[in-house]
Amino acid sequence: MIRLLLQNAQLITQGWERGWILIEDGRIARLGEGNAPAFDGAEVLDCGGKTALPGFIDLHVHGAVGRDTMDATPQAVHDMAHFYATHGVTAFLATTMTAPDDATRRALENAAGCVGPMADGAALLGVHLEGPYLNVKMKGAQDGQYIRRADPAVYRDWLNIGVIRQITVAPEFPENQAFIRDCVARGINVSLGHTAATYEDVQQAVSLGARQATHTFNAMTGVHHRSPGTAGAVLSMDEITCELIADTIHVHPAILKLVVRAKGTDRVVLITDAIMGAGMPDGQYELGGQAVTVANHTATLADGTLAGSVLTMDRALRNVLTATGLSLAEAWPMTSANAARQIGVEDRKGRLVAGYDADIVLLDAQNNVTLTIAQGRVLYRASS
Ligand SMILES: [Zn+2]
Repeated sequence: MIRLLLQNAQLITQGWERGWILIEDGRIARLGEGNAPAFDGAEVLDCGGKTALPGFIDLHVHGAVGRDTMDATPQAVHDMAHFYATHGVTAFLATTMTAPDDATRRALENAAGCVGPMADGAALLGVHLEGPYLNVKMKGAQDGQYIRRADPAVYRDWLNIGVIRQITVAPEFPENQAFIRDCVARGINVSLGHTAATYEDVQQAVSLGARQATHTFNAMTGVHHRSPGTAGAVLSMDEITCELIADTIHVHPAILKLVVRAKGTDRVVLITDAIMGAGMPDGQYELGGQAVTVANHTATLADGTLAGSVLTMDRALRNVLTATGLSLAEAWPMTSANAARQIGVEDRKGRLVAGYDADIVLLDAQNNVTLTIAQGRVLYRASS
């Protein structure tokens, strides 16, 4: 049995100024307040008073370090997973882009072969299918020529691969409502996005089982006081949890604060929506077959449309803390527990609880990641 003891950690999730976590065979075996007892054969890791949180879970991320989910190679997924771990992520959903059917199928089949823990990266929990069943009027950086209405003859094959855990869909079309029904029946998290859905369309989608909004405010109709739009609908409906790209570019810091105030810290999920330019120098990259320029932390198409981000989860957390004035003890569920609940893994991930996977990130006083552990394996340790 492999035993690892983290001692002298601040465990704000339990309200402990000083505590310890005993990891056995990839899971949290015990944890407690104060000084750790002696455990036979345990390797001891002194946390030096740093804060331990559940590892970050990113439900919406396309790529990093020159790689993309649509590359459909195991190497791409592994390189992405490794990079994310260096920013505190212990689990993620590889996210597709709107593309021809065969390209989507290849990405799904590749991901299906990569699901699970990684030797030196965050665990792949499955795929977030972003497109093609979107509204072309709200395409953002999705390639409009491949956006279409949901077709069961195509998507049943995709669903049967068994790797999709979340979809982004525009719910205002009848064919897409049937798709929502089929996804909900399979336990897939349905997120509304790239959509011009009205308040009533969102109500209808919620009645079908939709429970999330994709990158809230981006690629959806905004709020008007007589016409709440998609944004007004998802902000006001308690059933919906809101994804947020907290890079302060996609959404102004004042709106980040507004969304967190409206939804509460248990109904917001921070995501990165990062693309292959994340972890790379400024320059020319690609997203969903289109050329993307990355400069000054911003990724854009030639016409200026935002094209994903180069955000990392640790930075997203720091940005939200700054924008909202919340403490880490209040804000942390937005980086892990809420995401785990949305995709149905809250019985083993997203909390520091005995019996849960030992997915742990250690943050210093500036909320920089100094250590990442996924299922008990140390994936990243900052050189100090
Ligand atoms: Zn998107």
